[in-house]
Amino acid sequence: MIKTGTINIIVRGLANMAKLNTQPEIKYTQLFINNEFVNSVSSKTFPTINPCTGQKICEVQEGDKADVDIAVKAAQEAFNLGSPWRRLDASKRAKMMVKLADLLKENKDYLSALETLDNGMPYFESEMWVDSIADTLTYYAGWCDKIHGKTIPLDGDYFCYTKLEPVGVCGAIIPWNYPIDMLGWKLGPAIACGNTMVIKPAEQTPLTAIFIGSLIKEAGFPPGVINIIPGYGPTAGAAISEHMDVDKVAFTGSTEVGHLIQQAAGKSNLKRVSLEMGGKSPNIVFADSDVDFAVDEAHEAVFCNVGQCCSAGSRTFVQEGIYDEFVKKSVQKANARVIGDPYVDGTQSGPQIDQEQFDKVLGKIESGKKDGATLSCGGSRHGDKGYFLQSTVFSDVTDDMTIAKEEIFGPVQVILKFKNIEEVIERAHKTHYGLAGAVFTKDIDVAMTVAHSLKAGTVWVNCYNVGGPSIPFGGYKQSGFGRDLGEDSLKEYHEVKTVIIKVPQKNS
Ligand code: ADP
Repeated sequence: MIKTGTINIIVRGLANMAKLNTQPEIKYTQLFINNEFVNSVSSKTFPTINPCTGQKICEVQEGDKADVDIAVKAAQEAFNLGSPWRRLDASKRAKMMVKLADLLKENKDYLSALETLDNGMPYFESEMWVDSIADTLTYYAGWCDKIHGKTIPLDGDYFCYTKLEPVGVCGAIIPWNYPIDMLGWKLGPAIACGNTMVIKPAEQTPLTAIFIGSLIKEAGFPPGVINIIPGYGPTAGAAISEHMDVDKVAFTGSTEVGHLIQQAAGKSNLKRVSLEMGGKSPNIVFADSDVDFAVDEAHEAVFCNVGQCCSAGSRTFVQEGIYDEFVKKSVQKANARVIGDPYVDGTQSGPQIDQEQFDKVLGKIESGKKDGATLSCGGSRHGDKGYFLQSTVFSDVTDDMTIAKEEIFGPVQVILKFKNIEEVIERAHKTHYGLAGAVFTKDIDVAMTVAHSLKAGTVWVNCYNVGGPSIPFGGYKQSGFGRDLGEDSLKEYHEVKTVIIKVPQKNS
């Protein structure tokens, strides 16, 4: 996941802290189908938990297969030829998307407060993601009337053109780490292309997506175009990926679940699949770098969103010569990081999302200690409630250790030493992931050699986690396939129809 302009955000965040709503009213807890809020067929509910306290925020209606069936039917009807949605001019579709972006911005304070309550991320970050989804929708609104085919020369008396048509009903399975922003990554291109949608937010963080349902209605989208089904992965999520009438599924989440989704698509109707999954991204710091700058960037690359970020720079490779200085400064930085109440001015890190993730990360920390890495700082729970962890740094890490091989998804910096460029490129590739990577150096030849060698969907040079709506993002290898964002993402959401017309000749 991309994070932009940290420093600006902090400054803006501090300015806004005065008027915080730390106890947002929970306005909606139901499924959103056909532009109405409804109970699930079973009327079952599930709790959503405040990760700062471990206490329940509220009960949410639990969608499962029966509800997905109803939502898919609604989305199919909305997609039928002749429906208001299919008859809508592309320019009007764009206006609806801009209207939704405006409504998101108008509701920024409320949405930010709700996201922080449900997810635990610092309030200023929630604000940033509300801005980000609005930007993404505005960017894709601009594409609505620019998604067009070609005329292609063909031998003989024929006229050939291609037409780009929406795929149909698109399922979107959303993760809990950036709930609002990930919704925008799927919704923007899907709707710009004219599809209809069934969206499943993560069970840990359903509240903002459900509220956005009310804005979708207010923006004027016809009933059934965008449906939102909160529920669990193995039930509601699986029902989407197995569904015979879902034409495409877009997923962001773990590689483990990505495998299941692709299998489900293969076993059902061969629906189109795009997957954005885990990573173990190398962040390579050469000895000629500005060390203080590289330490700061490498720190943010790991600790942003308490490490719950698929593009996290989770293997920090540092060249010998600056290694000891780099480790010392990284430890100072980690120790200085402010962990705590995400609504409080100056907090940089909130809690892990839930008990399961908290336990998983602690398990990885234990494995690092057992494997013989040096625990340079952190390594334990922070505070006495909720799922907070200390900012943790391991040094003297070798490639064979679990913490160097497996995604940790927590606030744990793993610092490895390397000698030269050939060696570090080879070692960087010792992973089945390929989401991102970075290189810090003043030497352009080194920067370009690394950038062009890494098998990764994004490579940053002297920066990390920079991106925006127009910049494609996605993985090589088991980090996934297909791209979110940018023009490239549109390809995931349209078909190419070829039309060939016999042209009568004058004297035939
Ligand atoms: P994590 O392991 O980081 O919690 P997951 O990959 O489990 O992330 O979750 C990402 C999204 O995938 C969530 O919306 C979750 O409900 C959904 N999900 C989990 N399991 C399945 C499944 N078997 N089929 C479809 N979706 C699933």
